[in-house]
Amino acid sequence: MPDDMVDAHINGVRNAMAAGWSVLARGGAALDAVEEAVVIMEDDDTFDAGRGSFLNRDGKVQLDALIMDGSTLRAGGVGCVERLRNPVRAARKILSESPHVYFVAEGAERFAAEHGVELCKNEDLVIAREVERLREYQQDTAGQEGKDLFAPAISHDTVGAVALDAAGNIAAATSTGGTLNKAPGRLGDSSLIGCGCYADNLSAAVSTTGWGEPIMKLVLAKWTADRVMSGNLPEWAAQEAMNYLKQRLNGHGGIIVLNGLGQVGIAHSTPRMAWGSKTEKKEEVGVEREESGVQG
Ligand code: ASP
Repeated sequence: MPDDMVDAHINGVRNAMAAGWSVLARGGAALDAVEEAVVIMEDDDTFDAGRGSFLNRDGKVQLDALIMDGSTLRAGGVGCVERLRNPVRAARKILSESPHVYFVAEGAERFAAEHGVELCKNEDLVIAREVERLREYQQDTAGQEGKDLFAPAISHDTVGAVALDAAGNIAAATSTGGTLNKAPGRLGDSSLIGCGCYADNLSAAVSTTGWGEPIMKLVLAKWTADRVMSGNLPEWAAQEAMNYLKQRLNGHGGIIVLNGLGQVGIAHSTPRMAWGSKTEKKEEVGVEREESGVQG
């Protein structure tokens, strides 16, 4: 995150947190809170989700999202959608109104439209900043196609939320435009259950960001939730997940973790990650997080 984008990220996170909190404050469900928080960030073109996302190799926005309910383990995911402003809304419809967990591409758009989610044009999701970013990237990497060009610079700004409600239920949601210049049809970790997102009342609600391929190979959100299930603090599990990602596959990323007791873990192995956390007593936002040193 460049210096001149820090304020925009902080504002975006603050707005998302306010939307999620307003659901929780009136006694609403964690599932609704994470959906509303993620919608705000999808609508904010600061982030790599919804409008303003990274463009794929063809210059199109292609979006993935997942939402999961920790109380029932119901989940809804969309992958490679091109005509949805808010993929998390479609994911939520899948969770609530379908016996399935995933819909992808046109099938997902058709499902969304049939369930009252309005479709848009792909061009409505594309902004000038991203057209320029893709142009520069393709110019700089010409002749290197097929090489492993992943770096923190091209996989960041995915959005996610975790919440605990008054009934004691937790939920998680993650939404992304994926990585810059990705091949059309490439699905990242964000919408994959247990990779970019997971929620189970018995363990934790988790959302991840970062270089998707290593994260999915390690099924990192579930890996982290399992550490919480076996009695570790979310704070420790979050940091361990980042260490594991680095040591095992030289991956990088960020993670937010929340258990049913309201204990939070936030960690990242990138220089910065915008994060926020709110309870009745305290609100915090930031872009950097010290390693906690907490023992499991
Ligand atoms: N994890 C996302 C992906 O690989 C990218 C990101 O988090 O920014 O699709």
